[in-house]
Amino acid sequence: MDFSLEYTEEQEDFAKEVREWIKENVPAGLVNLRDPIKKTYEQWQLRRELGRRLGKKGWLYAGLSSQYGGGGLDAEHRFVLSQEFEKAEIGYPPFYDSARLAVGPILSLGTDEQKERFLPPIFRGEVTTWQLFTEPEAGTDEANQQTDALRHEKEGEYFIINGSKIFVGGLYAPPDQLLLLTRSDREAPRHDNLAMFLAPGNLEGVSITPLPLFVSGTLSQVIGSTVDQAPAVKHQVFFDDVKVHERYLIGGERDGWRVTTATLDVEHGGGQVGVPPENYVVTRFLDQCRSNPKIVKRLEENPQLLENMVNVYIGSEIQRLWGLRNSWLSGSGIRAPYAGPQLGLYTKMFGGQMIADIARVLGPCTFTEGTEWGLEEDLFEVTQRAGLCFAPAGTPEAQKIIISRALTIGRQPGGRS
Ligand SMILES: Cc1cc2nc3c(=O)[nH]c(=O)nc-3n(C[C@H](O)[C@H](O)[C@H](O)COP(=O)(O)OP(=O)(O)OC[C@H]3O[C@@H](n4cnc5c(N)ncnc54)[C@H](O)[C@@H]3O)c2cc1C
Repeated sequence: MDFSLEYTEEQEDFAKEVREWIKENVPAGLVNLRDPIKKTYEQWQLRRELGRRLGKKGWLYAGLSSQYGGGGLDAEHRFVLSQEFEKAEIGYPPFYDSARLAVGPILSLGTDEQKERFLPPIFRGEVTTWQLFTEPEAGTDEANQQTDALRHEKEGEYFIINGSKIFVGGLYAPPDQLLLLTRSDREAPRHDNLAMFLAPGNLEGVSITPLPLFVSGTLSQVIGSTVDQAPAVKHQVFFDDVKVHERYLIGGERDGWRVTTATLDVEHGGGQVGVPPENYVVTRFLDQCRSNPKIVKRLEENPQLLENMVNVYIGSEIQRLWGLRNSWLSGSGIRAPYAGPQLGLYTKMFGGQMIADIARVLGPCTFTEGTEWGLEEDLFEVTQRAGLCFAPAGTPEAQKIIISRALTIGRQPGGRS
């Protein structure tokens, strides 16, 4: 079966326009760095500049309403846009702005004043936003929030926030905004006691402590052919009597769980239209299996390793085709809330298996850098590091819980990343 994707004449015209734009607008010196530990501030600034230029053109939020600075493009055009960025090997921003997760709830639950205030800077790529959901006692069990946002006793339009978040951020601190999940009522039933804010990052009483990790992103960010992610630093954020005005509350003060599940749907890939990235690691690995004499010899002498090699290829094709299926579902307006977590779960599980299969084929070559013996530079090591980190955007167990709920066989609505 031929799964190749070819443009119609009209799509080719648009693709040409995109290619021209890329040639003229991608900042000089911008590169895709695979290893989060090597990401520099200068590269991050170039990526932000690209985001702002895309925002100006309306292509940062290409599918959203032009009223607030989106591009108003249909699914077909968005697909071409992502395909051309993929071909040019340029990651598509905004990776630095977690407010993208909250655009849906802002549009559906926000006041007109909030839409006017929040959306244009997000759509223009001007703001950085951290997602502040996880707490020491609220990871997979996301609803178990202990960070309180309680109404000020005298000034009722303010909330007072106390508590802490962990494993958050990942960009250069402080961010412009905090997408902040809190507990607004200590007595109300679970899921009915939460409030979500899109609050300024510079509020008095907020303190931020870096938490360097060996990896800061997901495996899919490392194996994608167009890589971009934050440097390998997450943060702890502490709130000490922080005063926030109710104008920063998204929805009502009991709507937090509804907003959370909508943001997680986006985080898990819901509503995204675009070409799934080529699996860069698999492509490099298969190239080496074909043409590197040392690896070819290993395969000839150990024919059982061919099975590991083929597993890697088949697994990556399944991942790619599921990505295409999800893109088609979103583009066709078909709601399938299980589809994003299904691909997320598959990607995590396949990633672990892929690393094991590649390690078997490469054998001692996994310990080397450079293409003479192994993959390029430290590619295997970087992939292994990311592949061992299952937590970002929800552990495999969390994904299974979300899928079961989406299929209405779980205990209750919602789920956690
Ligand atoms: C690199 C990285 C980046 C991150 N970025 C962010 C971010 O930007 N913003 C943010 O808010 N959070 C972020 N997180 C936090 C991430 O979402 C959590 O780590 C994740 O949700 C898991 O929560 P936890 O670490 O508390 O683990 P726990 O919830 O304590 O889980 C520990 C283990 O128990 C299992 N488990 C827990 N509950 C169940 C259950 N009911 N059934 C079966 N098994 C279960 C889990 O699967 C896991 O294996 C990040 C984490 C990492 C590592």
